Amino acid sequence: GSRMPDLVVVGAGLFGLTVAQQAAENGHTVRIIDVRGHIGGNAYSYMDMETGAEIHQYGAHLFHTSNKRVWDYVNRFTTFTHYEHRVYTTHDGEVYPLPINLGTINQFFHAHYTPEQARRLVEEQAGELAGTDPQNLNDKGIQLIGRPLYEAFIKHYTAKQWQTAPEELPASIIKRLPVRFNYDNHYFQDTWEGLPTDGYTNWMERMIADPKIEVSLGTDFFDESQPWNKSALVGRVPVVYTGPVDRYFDYALGELKWRTVEFKERRYDEGDHLGCAVMNFADADVPYTRAIEFKNFNPERSGHQNPGKTVVWEEYSRAASRGDEPYYPVNTDADRRLYQHYAAKAQDEPQVVFGGRLGTYAYYDMHQVINSALIAYDKQVAPLLS
Ligand code: FAD
Ligand code: UDP
Repeated sequence: GSRMPDLVVVGAGLFGLTVAQQAAENGHTVRIIDVRGHIGGNAYSYMDMETGAEIHQYGAHLFHTSNKRVWDYVNRFTTFTHYEHRVYTTHDGEVYPLPINLGTINQFFHAHYTPEQARRLVEEQAGELAGTDPQNLNDKGIQLIGRPLYEAFIKHYTAKQWQTAPEELPASIIKRLPVRFNYDNHYFQDTWEGLPTDGYTNWMERMIADPKIEVSLGTDFFDESQPWNKSALVGRVPVVYTGPVDRYFDYALGELKWRTVEFKERRYDEGDHLGCAVMNFADADVPYTRAIEFKNFNPERSGHQNPGKTVVWEEYSRAASRGDEPYYPVNTDADRRLYQHYAAKAQDEPQVVFGGRLGTYAYYDMHQVINSALIAYDKQVAPLLS
C-alpha cells in the first residue's frame, strides 16, 4: 500500500536499516526505499552457486568494533564467526605480511632484527627528511617509515589507489603509517571481530523483519513518477536521507568528489588460489590494488564449498564520475569546505535528517555507521516522531 508511514527512510544501507529498526521497535511505521534491487547498501552480499563463496558485491567487508553498544546491538540480529582478518602483499616476486611488522621488515632486509634494532633502523632511514615539513604524500611517507619500506609497500599501491602520483597527493592523507615492531599481523586491533555467520544479507533482513516496516526497492527518491519522491514527501513526513548530499540539492553548490572501485572476476579450477582472503599488490606492474578470494573469508563453511573451484575479484580504483557508485570520499580541503556548505543547507531542510557515508560525505566503517545511526535516531529522528 502507499498510505503515509510515520517515517520514510531513503537508502537501505546500514544507516537506514538501523534507523528503521529503531523506529519500528518504538512503535512507528516505516517505509524504506532504495534505488537498488536489494537491501544492505554496500554491505550486501550473495552466495555464488558454483563455488559456495559468499561474494561481497561492493568489495570485501570485515566487521570489527570496540564499541560495546554497537556490538550488543548487532548481536541481536546475527552471530559472528571467529574469522580474524590478515592481509598479505606481493612485492618484487615475494609475499610479505601486512601491516608492516617485524616479519615484513626482517624478510625485506634479510635480517633477524630484534624489535629494538628494527625500530632504530626505521628511525635512521626516516631521518632522511628529518626537520622538514613535507607537503606531499611521498615525502611524508619517507619521513614516517623511511624510503626503502615506503617505496616497496606504500608508494605504488597508493598511486594505484588514487590514480595520482604520491608527489601530487596532499601529505594530509596519511597522518600515520602503522609499523609494528613485533610479529603481530592481525589487521584490526578492535575488541570484537568476525563475519556474520549466515551472511551479511540474512543479518540485515532480520534487522527489518517487522510488519511495521515496508520496503520499496528499485525506487529512486528523485524520480517524480513514483510516490515516494522528494517533492511529495519533504515537509509532509519525517525523512531520513542517506543518499549523496550534493545530489539532494541538485548539485547547486558543485559536486563532491569520490573514488570508485571496479572489480574483475576470475574463476579458477582450483580449491584455493591465493591461500588467503586478501592479497595486496604493492608494485606498479600489476594494475589492480588487491585481489579478494571470497571462499577464504568463511573457512568454517568448507564442507559446503566446492573443493575444485574458486572465485577471485581483482580490485581497480579510479575517480568516480556521476554515473559511478561513489565509494571513498576524496576529501581534499576544497571538498571539505564544499561539504560544510551543503551541511549548512541540510540543517535548514524541514524534517529531513541526513546520515550515512553519502549523506554526510564521510568514510565510515560499518560499526561507525551503526553507531551514528543509533545516535541520530535518539537525538534527531525520535523527536520528529513524537
Ligand atoms: P550505503 O551502504 O552506501 O547505503 C546507502 C543506500 O542509499 C544505497 O543502498 C543506495 O542505493 C541508496 N540510495 C542512494 N541514493 C538513492 C536515491 N536517490 N534513492 C533511493 N536510494 C538511494 N566497513 C567495514 O566496517 N569493514 C570493511 O571491511 C569495509 N570495507 C569496505 C570496502 C569498500 C570497497 C567500501 C566502499 C566500503 C567498505 N566499508 C567497510 C564501509 C561500509 O560499506 C559502510 O560503512 C556502510 O555500508 C555504509 O552504510 P550507509 O548506510 O551509510 O551507506
Ligand atoms: N596502503 C598501502 N599499501 C598497502 C595497504 C595500504 O600503501 O598494501 C595505504 C594506502 O595509501 C591506502 C591506505 O594505506 O590508501 C589505507 O589502506 P587500507 O587497506 O587500510 O584501507 P581501504 O583501502 O580498505 O579503505
